[in-house]
Parts: sequence; C-alpha cells; structure tokens
Amino acid sequence: MIQCRLKWLHAFQKQLSGLLPPGAIALQPFRGPKHVVCALDPYGTWGYPYDSVGALGGVGSAKPCGSIIRVEARAMNQHELIYDWNVEGERQTPHCPGIELNDETLRDGLQSPSVQTPSVHDKIRLLHFMAGLGIHSANIGLPGAGEQVKQDVILLAREIRDSGLNIAPNCAARTLRVDVDPIIEASERSGVSIEAAVFIGSSPIRQYAEDWTLDRMLQHSSDSVSYAASHGLPVMYVTEDTTRARPDTLRRLYTTAIEAGARRICLADTVGHATPEGVWNLVTFMRGVVADTGEDVKVDWHGHNDRGLGLVNALTAAYAGADRIHGTALGIGERVGNTSIDQLLVNFTLLGWIDGDLSALGEYCDLVSASTGTPIPPNYPVVGRDAFRTATGVHAAAVIKALRKGDDWLANRVYSGVPAEYFGRAQAIEIGPMSGVSNVVYWLERRAITPDPTLVESIFAACKSSDRLLETEDIMNLVRTWRLRTTGALA
Ligand SMILES: [Zn+2]
Repeated sequence: MIQCRLKWLHAFQKQLSGLLPPGAIALQPFRGPKHVVCALDPYGTWGYPYDSVGALGGVGSAKPCGSIIRVEARAMNQHELIYDWNVEGERQTPHCPGIELNDETLRDGLQSPSVQTPSVHDKIRLLHFMAGLGIHSANIGLPGAGEQVKQDVILLAREIRDSGLNIAPNCAARTLRVDVDPIIEASERSGVSIEAAVFIGSSPIRQYAEDWTLDRMLQHSSDSVSYAASHGLPVMYVTEDTTRARPDTLRRLYTTAIEAGARRICLADTVGHATPEGVWNLVTFMRGVVADTGEDVKVDWHGHNDRGLGLVNALTAAYAGADRIHGTALGIGERVGNTSIDQLLVNFTLLGWIDGDLSALGEYCDLVSASTGTPIPPNYPVVGRDAFRTATGVHAAAVIKALRKGDDWLANRVYSGVPAEYFGRAQAIEIGPMSGVSNVVYWLERRAITPDPTLVESIFAACKSSDRLLETEDIMNLVRTWRLRTTGALA
C-alpha cells in the first residue's frame, strides 16, 4: 500500500505541477503543524500539505484537471470537517514509521491465570493471523518450561518456514544455559533462526527477595547471552522490573549483555509500575547506555497494564525512540495483562506509522478469545461487539443522515474516532429505549421492509417500554404481528 500511496503522490504532484506557479508547492508527507491546508490521499490516512497555500489562494483555486479536482474537493472537504488537535498545536506526536511490533500472546499471554492453552492447531492459525496483520515478530513460547511447549515451539517454527510466513520467531529463556539449550534445539530442528529472549530480574526489591548479588546477575547474564550467541542465535537481553531498577545496575547489566553479544535489549515494566514520564525517562536513559557501547543495538519496550497505562506507556516508549513494542491480543497476560497488541495496531495505523491490512483484526481477536477462553467485553475498542453499534437516537440520527448521503466516509467518522472501514467493520444501527423513530425506519429499510407509519409506531412503542435493545427476533416478531393485523388475520 505504501507503494500505491507513493505512486499516487507522484501522480498528484505531476498533475498539479502544470497548474501552480513554479516552486510554489512543496509536497511532503504531512506531520507538521504549520500547514494550513492538506490534501488527503484516497485512503484517507495520509495528508500532503501545501506550504504556500496562502499565496496561491487555496488548493481549491487550482483549475480542474482530470481526476485531481475530485480528489482535492474531497480532501478539502475532509480537512474542513475534522479539525485535528492531534496534529495542530504546540505538542507534536513524533512520527515513527519504522516501528515494529512483537506479539507475546503465545508466551506472556498464556501466563494469564484465567486462560486455557490453545491447541497447537489454533496456535498455528494465530501465527498466520499475526503475520497477515503485519506483526513483525512473535514470541512462540518458553521451551524451557517443558517438553510440550518445546514441541509446540518446533512445530510453530517449522510452520513459519514451510508457509513462508513473514514473521520472526523468538523464545523466552531465563539467563540459564538449561533454558537456552531448548531454543538452540528448536532452531536446529526447524531450520529457523529463533531469537533468544533471555531475561533476569533487575530491581533492588527483586534482588532482595531472591538473595541475588549483582555480581551473580552479571555472571548469569554474560554466560547465557554469550552461550546463545555462540550457537548462532540472535539474542535479546531482557531485564524484568526495569522500571524500578537503579540506573547504575541497568548500565552494568546491559553493557555486560551487549559486550557478550546481545543485539537487542528489552525494557520490561513487568509489574505495571511505570507512568508515561517514567517510560520516557527510562527509554531515554537506556538509549544513552546503548550509544555509549558504540554497538548497533535495538531497544524494545514490554509493558503491563496494572495501572491501566499499558497503551499510553507503549506509545510513549515509541515516542522516546524504542524500536519495537510488545503486546498481546486482547491484552491477556499475567494479572491484569499486557499492552493490547490489537490496540497498538489500531493506534499505529491511525498515527500513520504502519499501513497494513487490518481487516482481519476482529477475526484474530475472536480466535484468541475462543481458543484461550477469554470473553471480549462488548465495549472493548474496535473488536468489541458494541464498538461501532449505536441505538441512541441522536447518535444514530447523525450516522443515518450520513449513510443517506451515500457517504460511508462520513458515516464512519461522524460519531467515531476510529474509522470502522480500516478494521473490516461497519456502523450498525440498533433499536432500544434511547432510540428515535429514525432508528426504526432505518433498521426496517436496511432489511427491505417498507417503514409503514403504523409499523414504525408499533416498534417504536415496544422499544420505549423495553429495558434493553430489541433483538432482531423481537423486531421481526413485531413485524409479523403487524402484517397479520393489517391483513385482517388478527383483527
Ligand atoms: Zn511480561
């Protein structure tokens, strides 16, 4: 799609170049604060600004030229309809187009006390979904946990190889050779390079509880990282509880791990302690530590949601320069869970950082829900049953008016900050006690039922006396009763 967009941009530039004074237009991908007018591409997610619009009297003053004027008219319209405080103002969201995602559903997610472990068949299906959604890498288990996990890891790694899935596997291990060995074995038996994510606690509270000395932690870190690296595994060194660890401890641990061969480090907010400011401070500090080593080492962020800050912390980590963000589908994981990778996908898309096809996001989450026994709350963002559903009269009336204009773009935005069409969803109008007549009329029309005033009145009366939304079956019963009555059968 990026190629497609670039092509469109080039065509756009070329067509406009003959219309406007030479040098007056500088078309660049839109993120800046100073652009008065921007044109949106046909996908509606990227803008292209005109720096000199004032001098030109507005894009609209350009003479029509082929299809461009249509695109412009729509683009101008969209820009006028939504003033975006997210990009207009003093504080600017950094642009992170190279950001990557690591899916922890099959490892950390399955550590949730409430989930059941999916069958290996379902794990394979989940892996396909992850790759299809453009997720870059996936933790496929902790093979040191036992023979069954190891066998699943080997099967999943082979599936990646055999199906040519565009997703890089990694596996967790304590900083012990006995945990690294099964990853080496899985990598050899599958013929797939598996990144070893070796982890150790790093906070003073954890050290005190475990009776660990820093020397011992350094020795375990150095030994396990160099052992994995010497067997050809890419190594990510992970410190647990990083957000409560001392800077001098972190500097020593990470410098040691990088010298031993780690080429990626992971800052884990294992207990969900951090605030966005804490994340910013930590990521900034650790990027300095990495820079001091002189090595090319990537920085990952792995967050938990104990304070409900998982998503905003992950975004802050990205703003601060983290290269890869971890998450799990539906946020399943230890205690209250991890950052939700589905919500990361949604936000990265809306921020213009990624542009993969997310129409299968709902199916992915549904499969995670079914295979782990985790119900999706109806009000869950984007993939919840109610995410794009309304029965409220005022809301529904606005959506219905937009739909009646034949404008899905408008209908999907007039009462939603998340455009449904990006995620394979659509607005749904229901009928309930807060509904207006327009809900009833629209509902009937959608099902090719003529909204006779007496039928509408009958359904409207029923919904007003109900304490919940009317189900399809309830409404169809009312329709059948009305038909019988109007044909005289029930007179
Ligand atoms: Zn975790």
